[in-house]
Amino acid sequence: MAEPDAKGSLQSMAKLLLHVCCAPDATVGLERLGDAYEVTAFFYNPNIHPEAEYELRKREFVRLCQQLGVPYRVGPYDADRWFQLTAGLEDEPEKGRRCEVCFRMRLERAAQEAKVAGCQYFAAVLTVSPHKDARRINDIGAEIGQRFGVQYVPTDLKKKDGFRRSVELSRELGLYRQNYCGCLYSLRSREEAEKRRERESTSTDPKR
Ligand code: SF4
Repeated sequence: MAEPDAKGSLQSMAKLLLHVCCAPDATVGLERLGDAYEVTAFFYNPNIHPEAEYELRKREFVRLCQQLGVPYRVGPYDADRWFQLTAGLEDEPEKGRRCEVCFRMRLERAAQEAKVAGCQYFAAVLTVSPHKDARRINDIGAEIGQRFGVQYVPTDLKKKDGFRRSVELSRELGLYRQNYCGCLYSLRSREEAEKRRERESTSTDPKR
């Protein structure tokens, strides 16, 4: 992608590799960063469990990129390595130490991929989620960027109604939207919360 300067000649835009955790979150990231950068989307999420769910989210990512004409890359499904790195952190709550390890693993790979893809910048759409601390993600990204020699672009995509916009765009594009963050432990927490809600509604139902 290139845009004309004041004299009408073409100037190339800076290249940015955008780490994408899922298609719905990517919608806003692509919309907001696509004006300023030549974006390549990158899917690297070995945290996603089970594998069938991983394949589903990956498929939706590819479909979105193809639909919008965005170049994309897909990393390997290093699930064993993810479990090794997060061993001992199984009981951490969301936003705890396990999530930090999980962000770090994915952003490190994104920084490496940015270099391979010839991108001077990298960023992440993880910050669109209301359940994630954008400042923590941005601190990790900046530290990794320094270490790998690629400039990290901080974002807080949930701002300016970013999350609501992602829901709206996902609906328009008919994208699959998951109901848990991604890992086995977040899936278990969601299932336990559902059971708890079911038990509570049963015990307060006057017909029973
Ligand atoms: S809850 Fe989400 S961010 Fe945290 S470890 Fe699991 S998949 Fe990663």
